[in-house]
Amino acid sequence: MLRLQRCRDCGTAIHYPRRWCPKCWSTGLDHFDARGTGVVISYTIVHQSPFEAFDSHTPYVLAIVQLDEGPTMLTNIIGPGAMKVAIGDPVRVRFEHRNGWTVVPQFERVRKKRQQKAPGSSK
Ligand SMILES: [Zn+2]
Repeated sequence: MLRLQRCRDCGTAIHYPRRWCPKCWSTGLDHFDARGTGVVISYTIVHQSPFEAFDSHTPYVLAIVQLDEGPTMLTNIIGPGAMKVAIGDPVRVRFEHRNGWTVVPQFERVRKKRQQKAPGSSK
């Protein structure tokens, strides 16, 4: 479950975790279960790894996802079709277990609903 902070005073959803609300500076923050869904607002496909440790992972997608609750997350797009990612793609969180002790929130594309063709349209 993806959890975010929310300000009790102004209702702002917050990511990354902080001690103060970035909007009203209140310290009255709670955690809540986020939907774990959002859209891709920017991405790049990394072909040349910055570190030797990432060599076996290229190519991979580095993306900024805007969660439905508002905050943005720097993350990876993984799973089927990840390399076909586009801005505006709907995504949902998927947790990857790494090294036996770390759990990383990643995102996978959600299949878009097919658009209805207008009757008689050839496009
Ligand atoms: Zn606030």
